[in-house]
Amino acid sequence: MTTTVEHPRQIWDAALGQLQLHVTRPNFETWLKNTVGVAYRDGEFVVGAPNAFVAEMLEQRMYSLISRTLESVLKSEVEIRFEVTTPEGEPPALHSVNDGHGEADGTLAAVQPPAYRPATLNARYTFERFVVGKSNELAHAAADAVSGRPGELYNPLVLYSDVGLGKTHLMHAIGHRATSRGMSLIYSTTEEFTNSYIKAIREGSTDEFRERYRSADLLLLDDVQFLIGKEQTQEGFFHTFNALHMTNRQIVLTSDRPVSALTLLEDRIQSRLAGGLVVDIQPPDVETRIAILRAKAEEMRQDVPDPVLQFLAERIHKNIRELEGSLNKVVALADLTGAAVSIELTRQAVADVVETAAERKIPDTAVVEAVSSHFGVPVEAIKGRKRDKRTAQARQVAMYLLREESQLGLSTIGKILGGKNHNTIMHGCDRIANQLNVDPQLRRRLINIRESLSAH
Ligand code: ADP
Ligand code: MG
Repeated sequence: MTTTVEHPRQIWDAALGQLQLHVTRPNFETWLKNTVGVAYRDGEFVVGAPNAFVAEMLEQRMYSLISRTLESVLKSEVEIRFEVTTPEGEPPALHSVNDGHGEADGTLAAVQPPAYRPATLNARYTFERFVVGKSNELAHAAADAVSGRPGELYNPLVLYSDVGLGKTHLMHAIGHRATSRGMSLIYSTTEEFTNSYIKAIREGSTDEFRERYRSADLLLLDDVQFLIGKEQTQEGFFHTFNALHMTNRQIVLTSDRPVSALTLLEDRIQSRLAGGLVVDIQPPDVETRIAILRAKAEEMRQDVPDPVLQFLAERIHKNIRELEGSLNKVVALADLTGAAVSIELTRQAVADVVETAAERKIPDTAVVEAVSSHFGVPVEAIKGRKRDKRTAQARQVAMYLLREESQLGLSTIGKILGGKNHNTIMHGCDRIANQLNVDPQLRRRLINIRESLSAH
């Protein structure tokens, strides 16, 4: 009998199961969920954490709880070491943070195949918990309508957006409502659909596969962009789709690309998708971001002061998942340290995701130059008075970025941009903020400019 028969990964998963019962959900999500069991040898257990901050917090604040838990799982004493690793428990690539805790271990745990987990609806993804704003109201209205009268209105309904903006949430909301009305549904990720279709082909059971899918009132298929390049699965999808469509069963699909960009899907599938209703979700504006944070704080029964919500909402704009994650981190850090939720604490908790240009000391000239080169408008023109469309837009983008990235006051921005007044700057910033909601090209431009600035 030896103590190394079990894999560190399984040991740690068992420990996580217990730890989950002893810490609050935000704490679990923030500090523990993304950790892995990396190695167990000679009485030392190595836990992999996604970054140095988490590793440090676990070591400083949770060591004794973790060691007690691990010892009860292992039934022997153990020393714990925290290390920065990838989610697979491998040492990070060279560019990531490494705390210099010695060499990566060449004999790490064997990688286990991921456990098979059938997709189920997330209980939190309901209509009640979906905050509606300008950026998502169309998608919300369509989802709402379809869930009330499946198969009758828009078929298929396709939701598309960048990642983390609420597609899956809305899809599950449709599912909850339909099941609460006694309808049967199949919810599947496209990955799962692909796996079970391939399995069906291998086992010669495609008839049963089809029957299973055809029996549902609704089919919800998440992330159909994963069908791209999988011709065999596209074939299976096409037949399933047709069978359901012909009998007026509701089909709901999500994609992180617009249908027109799914160019590697067979034409016949593309035209089917375009025949339904395709709605997109845009990144939320700052009011919606604040409303989402507020709802989330209430859900956690946490009293988070408005300035903190504002602080987060102003700095995290691309992804709602990240926005929620940042609030989780703040609450978890407050919990762990017993400190009040303040701006200072918030800054500390989210330092790894939030880095404003001002804090990184990107000179305002760099912002103006980046805008100039992306728009092909000379710096003098941006600072000047010319009013042609291109120049005016470049100038307003410069205003917007100086405000958002550098956190400068309106009159300071006015001075930087060749002596414009406070009102002009305010108007310019608002205009860009509004256009960003409706103009994907402008959004892409801004992302590019921000990326070039962050490379500074
Ligand atoms: P996607 O599928 O587009 O990548 P998700 O649906 O998984 O995004 O959303 C990411 C996270 O953000 C989820 O936790 C979800 O609940 C939350 N979320 C997205 N949009 C909203 C919203 N309008 N109101 C409340 N929470 C939202
Ligand atoms: Mg999703």
